[in-house]
Amino acid sequence: MLYIDGEWRGAQSGSSFEVANPATGEPIGDVADGTQQDAADAILAASEAFSGWSRLTAFERSEYLQRAYQLMMERKEALARLMTEEQGKPLKAARNEVQYAADFFLWYAEEAKRVYGDILPAPRSDQRFLVLRQPVGVVAAITPWNYPVSMITRKVAPALAAGCTIIVKPAEQTPLCAMEVFNVLHDAGVPAGVANLVPTADPAPVGDEFVTNPAVAKITFTGSTEVGTMLAGRAATTMKRVSLELGGHAPFIVFDDADPEYAAKGLSLLKFLNTGQACISPNRIYVHDSVSARFLEVLEERVGRMRAGNGLEEGVAIGPLVDAPSLEKVDRQVQDAVAKGARLRAGGTRLMADGMDRGFFYAPTVLSGVTRDMEIYNNETFGPVAPVIEFDNEDRVLALANDTTYGLAAYVYTQNLGRAMRMFEGLDYGIVGINDINPTAAAAPFGGMKSSGWGREGGREGITEYLETKLGGFSI
Ligand code: NAD
Repeated sequence: MLYIDGEWRGAQSGSSFEVANPATGEPIGDVADGTQQDAADAILAASEAFSGWSRLTAFERSEYLQRAYQLMMERKEALARLMTEEQGKPLKAARNEVQYAADFFLWYAEEAKRVYGDILPAPRSDQRFLVLRQPVGVVAAITPWNYPVSMITRKVAPALAAGCTIIVKPAEQTPLCAMEVFNVLHDAGVPAGVANLVPTADPAPVGDEFVTNPAVAKITFTGSTEVGTMLAGRAATTMKRVSLELGGHAPFIVFDDADPEYAAKGLSLLKFLNTGQACISPNRIYVHDSVSARFLEVLEERVGRMRAGNGLEEGVAIGPLVDAPSLEKVDRQVQDAVAKGARLRAGGTRLMADGMDRGFFYAPTVLSGVTRDMEIYNNETFGPVAPVIEFDNEDRVLALANDTTYGLAAYVYTQNLGRAMRMFEGLDYGIVGINDINPTAAAAPFGGMKSSGWGREGGREGITEYLETKLGGFSI
């Protein structure tokens, strides 16, 4: 269903599309297929609601967000189960995501009250300068399927806190999770038109309305660099503000002074999270020559113990990939690497046993001896493959790590404080984990440099993306 102007309704076309479980291929729901006209209606509703919502006090807006936090926490288990069915990640990971998603409501319920202005020294004695921060206006958001709840709240919470109204177009693979987020907002009493949802099976016409409709002041997008670049280019013709969270190609560097067992444990937990379908997933694993044997041994052993299957089953660590093209891309990258001389140490095949042939499962895979001529070295994988590259020198590995158009997340394992600081400062990435595999939280700014995007989500920075700065010069 679409959620427009405070009501659930069907699409103007009357048509709908099926949503399937990627672990079993079975249909799990039927969702109204929003059209360009539906998107225009949602934008109109958001425009009409803007004046009332933006004039509420920050304390009032905060209360709605606090209620949304409470409701999402109450519904955590049901929402996590739905996420596992619709997106495929194991239930434990789905619970973690719901918690992360709810945290944005709470964090921005608090940040709503910390949007301060400034009084500046003016050049004349009869002049006063005041700086005011005001909501940008109507926001159009496009979100991906891999984190189907948190990628919505990471946009909706700061937008609403700032006083903006919003329309969300969720990914076509995961509209059911999006609908549950909007049920939370509805039940929290968020006024009609403030937050609207337009699911669709065909994103282009809805996206077209977002970037061309003059009532939209800002586009916020999370997804591939290709689509994000296209949307940003089109949004520029009407000077809409744009925030982009795009792809990544994260380096994971293990130095000779690090504990290779600890690093291998960290990598196995991080790389296979969400079956590798994360923008901050390590894609190039650089391990110093002197510790690579032990690192690979521990990694292989841990990967060998991972069980793939339906995420609702106990003990499953690897869920399915989202669709058939993703499976083909992962396998193509692995086969290309092996053909060019990489050593396959684990996995390397599609999984078909125990009914897994009905879903899109790929075995957790470890490759060593990966080189720069291989496709996997150069492109984001978005799958459960750990490509290991050996190195012998700090300056060289830093240059290799930075030698990509992406700049989202990077990870470093070292016990040397000076080296940790040099890497933190030298890596051209928006997020750097030092002996840390989870440098993310609602309170922390998340985002990338270079082709990984514009702007930051979360943290103090996240709300500024939804604010305009206005200067007042007063002669008295
Ligand atoms: P995608 O760009 O194909 O899809 C993302 C969203 O864009 C979906 O809602 C989709 O429907 C929409 N979309 C697609 N074509 C469109 C069009 N022509 N007009 C308007 N909207 C359109 O990306 P994907 O492959 O589904 O998602 C994976 C990508 O997302 C990866 O590159 C990943 O790194 C990135 N990602 C980034 C972050 C981050 O925070 N930086 C987080 C999650 C995912």
